[in-house]
Amino acid sequence: MSTQNIFVQEENPMQFFRFIPLLAFAAGAALAQAPAGSSADDPQPTAPPAIKSFDLSAMDTTADPCTDFYQYACGNWMKTNSIPSDQSRWVRSFSELIERNRYLLWQELDAAAKNPKTPLQKQYGDLYASCMDTATIEKKGIAPIEPAWTAIAQLKSAAEIPALLGDLEGHGSPDGFFEFGVSIDLKDSSKQIAELSQGGISLPDRDYYIVDNAHFATIRSQYIEHMKKMFALAGDTPDQAAKEAAAVLEIETAMAKASMSRTDLRQPANRYHIYTVADLDKLTPAYEWNNYFHGVGIGHFDTLNVATPDFFKALNGLLQSEPLESWKSYLRWQVLHGQADDLPKAFFDENFAFFDKTLGGQQEPRARWKQCTSLTDASLGEAVGQDWVKQNFPPGAKDSMEKLVASLEKSLGDDIKTLPWMTDETKKAAEQKLAMFRQKIGYPDKWKDYSSIKVDRTDLIGNLHHVNVFDENYNFAKLGKPVDEKEWHMSPPTVNAYYSTSFNDINFPAGILQPPFYDAASDAAANFGAIGAVMGHEMSHGFDDNGRHYDGTGALSDWWTPQDDAKFVAQTRRLDEQYSAMEPIPGAHIKGDQTMGENIADLGGSLLALDAYHLSLGGKPAPVLNGLTGDQRVFLGWAQVWRAKSRPDALKQQVTSDSHSPARFRVDGPLRNVDAWYDAFGVKPGDKLYLKPEDRVRIW
Ligand SMILES: [Zn+2]
Repeated sequence: MSTQNIFVQEENPMQFFRFIPLLAFAAGAALAQAPAGSSADDPQPTAPPAIKSFDLSAMDTTADPCTDFYQYACGNWMKTNSIPSDQSRWVRSFSELIERNRYLLWQELDAAAKNPKTPLQKQYGDLYASCMDTATIEKKGIAPIEPAWTAIAQLKSAAEIPALLGDLEGHGSPDGFFEFGVSIDLKDSSKQIAELSQGGISLPDRDYYIVDNAHFATIRSQYIEHMKKMFALAGDTPDQAAKEAAAVLEIETAMAKASMSRTDLRQPANRYHIYTVADLDKLTPAYEWNNYFHGVGIGHFDTLNVATPDFFKALNGLLQSEPLESWKSYLRWQVLHGQADDLPKAFFDENFAFFDKTLGGQQEPRARWKQCTSLTDASLGEAVGQDWVKQNFPPGAKDSMEKLVASLEKSLGDDIKTLPWMTDETKKAAEQKLAMFRQKIGYPDKWKDYSSIKVDRTDLIGNLHHVNVFDENYNFAKLGKPVDEKEWHMSPPTVNAYYSTSFNDINFPAGILQPPFYDAASDAAANFGAIGAVMGHEMSHGFDDNGRHYDGTGALSDWWTPQDDAKFVAQTRRLDEQYSAMEPIPGAHIKGDQTMGENIADLGGSLLALDAYHLSLGGKPAPVLNGLTGDQRVFLGWAQVWRAKSRPDALKQQVTSDSHSPARFRVDGPLRNVDAWYDAFGVKPGDKLYLKPEDRVRIW
């Protein structure tokens, strides 16, 4: 979600730790999902229904909030709703708003494709049209990827791989292997430096390759079958296809084994290792880095961050031990798999069948217009967004959101002052960090200039290559330059939000500042529970198990006294134990350590929303509405954000590879740690959700 690169099947974990989204969509089901081959009976766009905000009829008032709060808050909705066939999960407030925003965006793209009125509309209209033109995509077959495959076929030794990878990337083609780009120096947030990190696997997480149980073993054999089918579609004989698939799995498994776990990646010190280029050459003598750097076209540098040195050490060994033919298969797979969705329907269908249906449980692909709308948004987000915000984000909206953010920041400041477990010294440092928080609301002040991207109405893959080259050059141009603090990492219509560790800023695209998250016509308490808690959640990321290692400038710096550090760690261990005991699906527990940052942010966000609501009352008593107190409506507002249904396969995937706990646990999980929630609903010893006061975790 954090990168605009259309070829990235799932988030790059390194980028994830810099730009932490509120919600991650499963691989393949992301907003940036690429197009399918479509047919004449492909569903036509229809306007989605109006979105209801806080909704009493969603509640199951026969349930006991002290036993199952989620059921009480959302039970009737759960009973009366099902997951649409083109979704692997339906997180109601997000999904409905995504559908609405996408429909509104589609109206613009469709009009621009037919009758563009500005050069910008011509550009994004043509990209959308190239995606909708399935007849041309069918006619071209695999011709658009053949230049890359020809170059791979001509490899004479593994020593030529770096130059080849540089060339593929330099032309916008996906290549796997690892992640490379320019990022903010973790220890000096005013500097932008080159960074290398692990990558190269196609399944959603390293667990899929290395965990030894029946579930993952089955997926691995299904993955082999999938690769065989894809290679066969591209012209392999059955024997060739089987050999190629086995080679790919062998290499990806070795890469997975050498990868750091998501939990270990959470600690920034684990992914900060400054190397000179000469030392990098010593780490991986089998890989000629200069040829690669020259090929991708980045400027000169002497040092870089090698985030995961062990991965590159292993890659070096692998380059020497794997036969050249296996590398060719691996590279062919990266090119084919990375663009499967943009090829003819047979490729799309097979890719969908494995990555979306088998892994995520999604029953049907999205309609073509939805896919092409998302693809255009992911490719030219700040072009389509300019027109979108004019229609959908009135100037006054920005002001009211800024006021809301200010009230949440005040709550966090007050809250830090009264933390019972922290010494004054650390409190002061935390307050300093908070004082340096920045915020971005709605959309960029200055739009990216995409005018150099060539778009051809009849060449989808060519267009996407041009977009990739643009993105890569945009990124490489940052090397050694001052940081652009105003840059955004989500497009304006996106229904999400993020905190950035290196920028120390919170970011709320226009897409999420809408009903049901914020509804000017709705009750204030419910708004605080929804958008207020979302804002508090993002702020809390600045102080979670990852964010707390950075100071107000966004640089890694230890501002904790040893005793407060020890207390923080002890409390996170208790939170880890609480979440690790939760079992969203039989046999699959939440990974309390992997989801730590999100769980801390959910806990902090719900507390801050309540505090900010109290402040907003200005000393007056909260009104009772429909028999519900103000505090009750704040908690119910948060709960109703997470009305959600998930297919079992999607839930399994989420528990394995997502840093966010599944929806239900984002409600009961934090609230049973909040004292005010006990008072609001009369939760008593003996109730199922009851925790003794000394067992409740209070971090922020
Ligand atoms: Zn988050």
